[in-house]
Amino acid sequence: MGETHQSDAGVRTLAHFVNGKPLAGTSDRYGDVFNPAFGNVSARVPLATVAEVDAAVAAAQAAFPAWAETAPIKRARILFKFKDLLDQHHDALAELITREHGKVFSDAKGEVMRGIEVVEFACGIPNLLKTDFTDQIGGGIDNWNLRQPLGVVAGITPFNFPMMVPCWMFPIALACGNTFVLKPSERDPSASVRLAELLKEAGLPDGVFNVVHGDKVAVDALLAHPDVTALSFVGSTPIAEYIYTEGTKHGKRVQALGGAKNHLVVMPDADLDQAVDALIGAAYGSAGERCMAISVAVAVGHIADELVERLTPRVKALQIGSGMDGASEMGPLVTGVHRAKVQGYIEAGVAAGARLVVDGRGHEVEGHEDGFFLGGTLFDDVKTDMTIYKEEIFGPVLSVVRVPDFASAVDLINAHEFANGVSCYTSDGGVARAFSRQIKVGMVGINVPIPVPMAWHSFGGWKRSLFGDHHAYGEEGVRFCTRYKSIMQRWPDSIAKGAEFTMPVAK
Ligand code: NAD
Repeated sequence: MGETHQSDAGVRTLAHFVNGKPLAGTSDRYGDVFNPAFGNVSARVPLATVAEVDAAVAAAQAAFPAWAETAPIKRARILFKFKDLLDQHHDALAELITREHGKVFSDAKGEVMRGIEVVEFACGIPNLLKTDFTDQIGGGIDNWNLRQPLGVVAGITPFNFPMMVPCWMFPIALACGNTFVLKPSERDPSASVRLAELLKEAGLPDGVFNVVHGDKVAVDALLAHPDVTALSFVGSTPIAEYIYTEGTKHGKRVQALGGAKNHLVVMPDADLDQAVDALIGAAYGSAGERCMAISVAVAVGHIADELVERLTPRVKALQIGSGMDGASEMGPLVTGVHRAKVQGYIEAGVAAGARLVVDGRGHEVEGHEDGFFLGGTLFDDVKTDMTIYKEEIFGPVLSVVRVPDFASAVDLINAHEFANGVSCYTSDGGVARAFSRQIKVGMVGINVPIPVPMAWHSFGGWKRSLFGDHHAYGEEGVRFCTRYKSIMQRWPDSIAKGAEFTMPVAK
């Protein structure tokens, strides 16, 4: 895979994508998009004005009636073509992600695949929209349900999965007959525009899918817009809570997925080789910038010393480099600002008295001296009142917390404010069953480190990791994107004569 210094190619200026074509930004507000491996600005992204958001919503609103009337099988056929185009452009999309996010190319390819899988699920929409029918629910009356589209749905997405997370939302929303306005992360926005272009190439009518770049101004405009009927959000917990509160206040349907602090419990009877492999991959993959990254290892009983002993050389040996270098296991962080924030957490951990076993600060990569790299970091003896335990770090930092027994591990996890994902490594079926049932977390792995459900199940955390009633994608996604209607029907030959004043009951 060729590696070019992006600044050689000059700084691109990106555009929104509205009504089937690029729309240049009109304000003088732009955000910088970096190539994190080199630390240089590779593009400028326009930060939308309220008028630009209005234009995107107007395009989506105008396209809605015809799209909603399009037969589900015809909507699905466009998604089948889109899926074919995604296959053809799989590597190019992954490269786009690596160059703006920093994650290693093989990981970016995995992200693209996870996005494609939701498209594959959405291709089954004719079947997914089938509903219940009761013949003869009363005398001469039948009753059935419809799931009808909502209108314009908006998606607001985070930097860490610039393709997969938008794909959690729009394929299902579109398949259900909605039109869509996506406001991607301003830190790595190019993948979203590429998705819009490929949807158009697949035959999606203009205005059905639109992209507006931006920051709080654009998000607030979407939150307040009367024609936006529903909002899907994925990002940090403070913003998720804000989106949920504001969106519902404006009468919208909202699902807002927030931050995480995912624990992996290592029981004394666990296969330690497997547990160590799982921790290394899940804590340091994508430089820890995953909402399902494991950031706490809960060592139960006597296993703790050996666990830390085995983890230490593995963390030190992590292959860190440009995401486009095939030898790299971990790339840089997304921006210099984010790296400084993660380093601040490492300093806070040291100051609070946690034992810093491996210090990733000051890690340099040859030829990439200005890149946003940080080495893998490992803390032991982390206590629950420390900031590094309580808050989401979102970087390559793993904390080991020692507990005496299984019950303490469950209590510890259940007391945390976040409850996105969790994992337990054990060889005891009884422990596994008790863990799955007792743990108050949305997604549970037994000997699986990152239990991200596949596209035909649904994704979501509990507590302050998700605000709203529906998890993302899968059948929960179909429910979120449709309004339920119940229809009762009777024809004149069976209509009884005369008004009825009592509560109708089946006759
Ligand atoms: P973020 O909350 O900073 O940004 C997410 C989106 O919100 C972006 O589009 C951003 O432009 C917008 N935004 C930011 N500040 C805003 C404000 N003040 N008002 C309105 N909108 C605002 O999140 P991020 O740093 O891009 O992503 C990382 C976070 O996302 C982590 O907390 C991670 O756990 C979380 N995440 C959660 C899931 C999940 O499924 N639960 C998945 C991926 C990422």
